[in-house]
Amino acid sequence: MIYIIFSLLAFLPLIIGISIFILLNKSRLAAAICLFLVFATCWQLGVSTLYAERFFSEQTILLLFQWLRFGMIFLSPTIFYISYIIVNEMMDVQSKQYWQRFVNKKTALCQFLFALLSYIIGLTSKGVTHVEMIDGYFSQFYFPVSGELSWIIQMNILLFFINSIICFFTTMKIENAHQRHFVFYFNIFTLIGFAIGVFNFFPQAHLLPSVITIIVFAISVLILSVQMHIAMMNSMNKELMEQQKYVTEIINLNPNYIYAKNEQGQYTLVNEAFAALQGIPLQQIIGKTDEQLAEYVQLNVVYEAHVFNENMTQEEMFITRDGKERWLQTAKIPLRINETLTELAVSTDITKRKQYEQEIMKQAYHDALTCLPNRRMFNKQLNDLLVDCKDRNKEFAVIFLDLDRFKYINDSLGHDVGDLLLIAVAERVKRFLAQYDEQAKVYRLGGDEFTIVLPHYTKQQSEHFAQQLVELFHEKFVIGSHENFMTPSIGISMYPQDGDDVGTLIKHADTAMYHVKANGKGNYQSFDETMQQQFYRKMMIEHQMRLALERQEFELFYQPIVDVHTDKVIGMEALIRWQNNELGFLGPDEFIPIAEETNLIVPMGKWIMDTALKQQKKWAQQGYELKMSINISVKQLLSTNFIEDVQQLLRQNDVNVAFVNMEITESIAMYEHTVIERLEALKKLGVSLSMDDFGTGYSSLSYLNKYPLDSLKIDKSFVLQMEHDDESKAIVQAVVAIAKQLQLNIIAEGIETKHHYDYLAQIGCHYGQGYYIERPLRPEALTNILEHNVVHM
Ligand code: C2E
Ligand code: CA
Ligand code: CA
Repeated sequence: MIYIIFSLLAFLPLIIGISIFILLNKSRLAAAICLFLVFATCWQLGVSTLYAERFFSEQTILLLFQWLRFGMIFLSPTIFYISYIIVNEMMDVQSKQYWQRFVNKKTALCQFLFALLSYIIGLTSKGVTHVEMIDGYFSQFYFPVSGELSWIIQMNILLFFINSIICFFTTMKIENAHQRHFVFYFNIFTLIGFAIGVFNFFPQAHLLPSVITIIVFAISVLILSVQMHIAMMNSMNKELMEQQKYVTEIINLNPNYIYAKNEQGQYTLVNEAFAALQGIPLQQIIGKTDEQLAEYVQLNVVYEAHVFNENMTQEEMFITRDGKERWLQTAKIPLRINETLTELAVSTDITKRKQYEQEIMKQAYHDALTCLPNRRMFNKQLNDLLVDCKDRNKEFAVIFLDLDRFKYINDSLGHDVGDLLLIAVAERVKRFLAQYDEQAKVYRLGGDEFTIVLPHYTKQQSEHFAQQLVELFHEKFVIGSHENFMTPSIGISMYPQDGDDVGTLIKHADTAMYHVKANGKGNYQSFDETMQQQFYRKMMIEHQMRLALERQEFELFYQPIVDVHTDKVIGMEALIRWQNNELGFLGPDEFIPIAEETNLIVPMGKWIMDTALKQQKKWAQQGYELKMSINISVKQLLSTNFIEDVQQLLRQNDVNVAFVNMEITESIAMYEHTVIERLEALKKLGVSLSMDDFGTGYSSLSYLNKYPLDSLKIDKSFVLQMEHDDESKAIVQAVVAIAKQLQLNIIAEGIETKHHYDYLAQIGCHYGQGYYIERPLRPEALTNILEHNVVHM
């Protein structure tokens, strides 16, 4: 019975040892203590067999006792091993260096070897000779009788006390207070326990001290370790709390916006910066979703993002409570914490960068002078609108607006005035659009070109708009001391009728605009197919005309001018003709304006003058001294070296300058100063000057006496109309009267009937020209007529 109780008690240290081992996280110290308690168990198991006389023979009991005796023997090196662990793992570097001199691998090994030696001796009769039966309190028991070498075994007891003292000193050097506390008391209790256990050597103690020892060991160690565990947990919790506080502090001090949301979209963490941005106290945000916060602030995610699958960065626009726009660059990291998904977000304020980007965008997409969106923006938005209208089957209009004669203003008044004028135009159009239709947008493409896009307009609506736009320019533009009247030429193209891509729509609006330019300017026109054909024809003409001079495709025809009182041919007007292989026969009305536009008129004009002068010379040599009238276009007149060129041609061809006349048109009135200078220079060369097409253009008569003119040429339209309306008749009469007053000769062109001829002669016109007299003809045909001095009348 006693044997069973003692044996069962023996397992108490083992159980507690294992618990400590697990409780203290299987550390080396825990393992050593566990080992210590295992040995204690073995010791007690050995001791308890001494009571097992009822179960085993004497011989077996002796053997069992001897075998299990290592339990007691190995307690000593184990406590030394505990010191070894303390020295190696729990001390500061300095103490460690000191203690390693005594407590190291070698000394520990010696300890274990010595214990082993003691144990082996214990197995022999030199350690224990035999066991003796003794009467105990409870029952009889065997008591081991020491052999002659048993003192070696007893040396272990001494060693245990020495090792305990070493352990005691090393314990004092343990850095961690909890561990120091624990090992210190462990040391004390083992010392006490062992001291008690030693009394087992006295048979009078009836082997009870070892029982007390193991109970002391077990209970004290259990209390200690539970105490230490609690203390450690507390300190760990404290540390965790502190760490958390520290982390929260860091998060709060961070100027970036940091927050976390759970799967339901509720905020689980926010920092001060984020709360400040929202303008809501931090605590009020926790637990709320964005929708719930939306009554205060608004978060517009500009770049769509996928949540909860991968780390991503996105840019977000955020409207603060006071309505300010803030841009955030947010990195979102999905985290799995305790089986729940959390989305952690860190946002950086990139408002400054965005503003900078927007500024750059603005510069890239706007015109610096007028602040209107530019060509790039026009292309982009037109493209967007096109896609939208394609999808929704809607139409829209593209308007091309070009200022008439802007280049002239720019050149004559200076670029500064030109710039201010463009700004004024932009402003006026913008203001008009703002009240007319907010969806309509105006762009400046460059120079004096503007475009307007009218979303969802029909052709009729667009034309109505264009009409208003033209009228918008009726009011003058005042720039400083300058008052300018400007007119726009406006072309309209419609999606989808006139094109279903950006390029075509622009091109066609441009074509329509050119059409307006070519037909008197200051108006609007919608694109139609014939314009396109005209446009291509124009392109062809331009192309062919560049080659025509070299290929000698031009020819001059001459039309006689007669004195209406004597019926005699007094002169000829040189009129150009062009026969082209691809285009056929072209009239000057078609190609001269193109030649002017492309400046080809300059070389062409030189050729005309040269050819006409040569012909004049030829006729003069044949005895016909005729006044040669040569048409001069304004472009030509204003070209550099014009006067020098004329001078040279006159000299080269050796003609009588008095018989050379130059016809200029009324439109020169626009270029007052330069033109007057040029005309005076021409006069100085000795040629005479006529004002061609008089009455058609610029109504002011005031310029007439500013120009050094010799004659006026009444435009053929008045002459042709004379029969049909009295107004034309009156104009012709008035022109004749004015000419007379200014002492200018008067020539009437477009005389197609005898009636015209007679009437003009009757009202005092001097000269006449027209189909009634003769059509423009080749020089050979005319020479023939001159020979016979008969004109067809
Ligand atoms: P313009 O200077 O007014 O020339 C007179 C135009 O009236 C000529 O047409 C002539 O053929 C036409 N004409 C003459 N008599 C009559 C008539 O009785 N009835 C009608 N209906 N028309 C008549 P054309 O030759 O076709 O020239 C047209 C215009 O082309 C000219 O008008 C002139 O502005 C320009 N042009 C012609 N040749 C030259 C040239 O060599 N140099 C320059 N710069 N322009 C030229
Ligand atoms: Ca003429
Ligand atoms: Ca004319």
